[in-house]
Amino acid sequence: MENCLFCKIIAGDIPSAKVYEDEFCYAFRDINPQAPTHILVVPKQHVASIAEISALPADTLCALMGAIGKIAAQEGLSNGFRVVSNCGPDACQSVPHLHFHILGGRQMADQMA
Ligand code: AMP
Repeated sequence: MENCLFCKIIAGDIPSAKVYEDEFCYAFRDINPQAPTHILVVPKQHVASIAEISALPADTLCALMGAIGKIAAQEGLSNGFRVVSNCGPDACQSVPHLHFHILGGRQMADQMA
Protein backbone atom coordinates (compact mmCIF):
# COMPACT_ATOMS: atom_id res chain seq x y z
CA MET A 1 0.00 0.00 0.00
CA GLU A 2 1.32 3.40 -1.01
CA ASN A 3 2.66 5.57 1.82
CA CYS A 4 2.54 2.76 4.38
CA LEU A 5 5.77 2.64 6.40
CA PHE A 6 5.62 -1.10 7.04
CA CYS A 7 4.75 -1.88 3.39
CA LYS A 8 7.89 0.06 2.44
CA ILE A 9 9.94 -1.93 4.98
CA ILE A 10 8.55 -5.23 3.64
CA ALA A 11 9.41 -4.12 0.09
CA GLY A 12 12.95 -3.22 1.18
CA ASP A 13 12.50 0.46 0.31
CA ILE A 14 13.19 1.41 3.95
CA PRO A 15 15.93 -0.53 5.79
CA SER A 16 15.10 -2.77 8.73
CA ALA A 17 16.83 -5.30 10.97
CA LYS A 18 15.12 -8.44 9.67
CA VAL A 19 14.82 -11.39 12.03
CA TYR A 20 12.36 -13.60 10.12
CA GLU A 21 10.59 -13.81 6.78
CA ASP A 22 8.37 -16.31 5.01
CA GLU A 23 5.87 -16.19 2.16
CA PHE A 24 3.23 -14.45 4.29
CA CYS A 25 4.96 -12.41 6.96
CA TYR A 26 8.00 -10.35 7.84
CA ALA A 27 9.57 -9.57 11.22
CA PHE A 28 12.11 -6.95 12.21
CA ARG A 29 13.53 -5.24 15.29
CA ASP A 30 11.62 -2.24 16.63
CA ILE A 31 13.57 0.98 16.09
CA ASN A 32 12.66 2.17 19.62
CA PRO A 33 12.88 -0.99 21.72
CA GLN A 34 10.85 -1.17 24.94
CA ALA A 35 12.55 -4.39 26.10
CA PRO A 36 15.89 -6.14 25.45
CA THR A 37 14.08 -8.06 22.70
CA HIS A 38 11.43 -6.05 20.83
CA ILE A 39 10.37 -7.40 17.45
CA LEU A 40 7.48 -6.48 15.15
CA VAL A 41 5.74 -9.22 13.15
CA VAL A 42 3.68 -8.01 10.21
CA PRO A 43 1.66 -9.63 7.43
CA LYS A 44 2.95 -8.88 3.93
CA GLN A 45 -0.64 -8.19 2.90
CA HIS A 46 -1.70 -4.78 4.14
CA VAL A 47 -4.50 -4.54 6.66
CA ALA A 48 -4.69 -1.56 9.00
CA SER A 49 -5.05 -3.29 12.35
CA ILE A 50 -6.25 -6.35 14.23
CA ALA A 51 -9.79 -4.99 13.79
CA GLU A 52 -9.48 -5.98 10.11
CA ILE A 53 -7.68 -9.27 10.63
CA SER A 54 -10.61 -11.28 9.25
CA ALA A 55 -9.75 -9.83 5.81
CA LEU A 56 -6.56 -11.91 5.79
CA PRO A 57 -6.55 -15.41 4.29
CA ALA A 58 -6.28 -18.35 6.66
CA ASP A 59 -2.76 -19.27 5.50
CA THR A 60 -1.54 -15.77 6.37
CA LEU A 61 -3.15 -15.90 9.81
CA CYS A 62 -1.61 -19.28 10.45
CA ALA A 63 1.82 -18.06 9.33
CA LEU A 64 1.61 -14.94 11.52
CA MET A 65 0.73 -16.87 14.67
CA GLY A 66 3.29 -19.54 13.89
CA ALA A 67 6.00 -16.96 13.26
CA ILE A 68 5.60 -15.54 16.77
CA GLY A 69 6.53 -18.83 18.40
CA LYS A 70 9.38 -19.48 15.94
CA ILE A 71 10.85 -16.02 16.53
CA ALA A 72 10.56 -16.33 20.31
CA ALA A 73 12.46 -19.63 20.16
CA GLN A 74 15.03 -18.18 17.74
CA GLU A 75 15.59 -15.25 20.14
CA GLY A 76 15.96 -17.55 23.14
CA LEU A 77 12.90 -16.24 24.99
CA SER A 78 12.49 -19.50 26.89
CA ASN A 79 11.44 -17.71 30.09
CA GLY A 80 8.48 -16.07 28.38
CA PHE A 81 7.52 -13.06 26.35
CA ARG A 82 4.59 -10.71 25.76
CA VAL A 83 2.68 -10.19 22.49
CA VAL A 84 0.86 -6.88 21.96
CA SER A 85 -1.15 -5.51 19.05
CA ASN A 86 -2.26 -1.91 19.50
CA CYS A 87 -5.46 -1.06 17.64
CA GLY A 88 -6.58 2.49 16.96
CA PRO A 89 -6.14 5.79 18.79
CA ASP A 90 -7.21 4.62 22.26
CA ALA A 91 -4.44 2.01 22.16
CA CYS A 92 -1.91 4.52 20.71
CA GLN A 93 -1.43 2.60 17.46
CA SER A 94 1.07 4.73 15.52
CA VAL A 95 1.54 2.68 12.33
CA PRO A 96 -1.68 1.65 10.57
CA HIS A 97 -0.42 -1.71 9.28
CA LEU A 98 -1.29 -4.70 11.47
CA HIS A 99 1.66 -5.69 13.64
CA PHE A 100 2.36 -7.80 16.67
CA HIS A 101 4.98 -6.61 19.14
CA ILE A 102 7.05 -9.43 20.68
CA LEU A 103 8.56 -8.13 23.92
CA GLY A 104 10.95 -10.17 26.00
CA GLY A 105 14.24 -10.43 27.80
CA ARG A 106 13.06 -8.80 31.02
CA GLN A 107 10.34 -9.20 33.64
CA MET A 108 7.15 -7.53 32.37
CA ALA A 109 4.87 -5.51 34.63
CA ASP A 110 1.91 -7.52 35.86
CA GLN A 111 -0.49 -4.80 34.67
CA MET A 112 -1.55 -4.86 31.03
CA ALA A 113 -2.01 -1.11 30.58
P1 AMP B 1 2.41 0.96 17.43
O1 AMP B 1 2.64 2.22 18.18
O2 AMP B 1 1.80 -0.14 18.22
O3 AMP B 1 1.68 1.25 16.12
O4 AMP B 1 3.85 0.40 17.04
C1 AMP B 1 4.60 0.90 15.99
C2 AMP B 1 6.03 0.58 16.30
O5 AMP B 1 6.78 0.78 15.11
C3 AMP B 1 6.67 1.46 17.38
O6 AMP B 1 7.08 0.63 18.47
C4 AMP B 1 7.84 2.11 16.66
O7 AMP B 1 8.98 2.22 17.48
C5 AMP B 1 8.07 1.16 15.50
N1 AMP B 1 8.71 1.74 14.33
C6 AMP B 1 8.40 2.92 13.71
N2 AMP B 1 9.19 3.10 12.64
C7 AMP B 1 10.03 2.02 12.58
C8 AMP B 1 11.08 1.62 11.70
N3 AMP B 1 11.44 2.36 10.65
N4 AMP B 1 11.73 0.46 11.95
C9 AMP B 1 11.37 -0.30 13.02
N5 AMP B 1 10.38 0.01 13.88
C10 AMP B 1 9.72 1.16 13.66
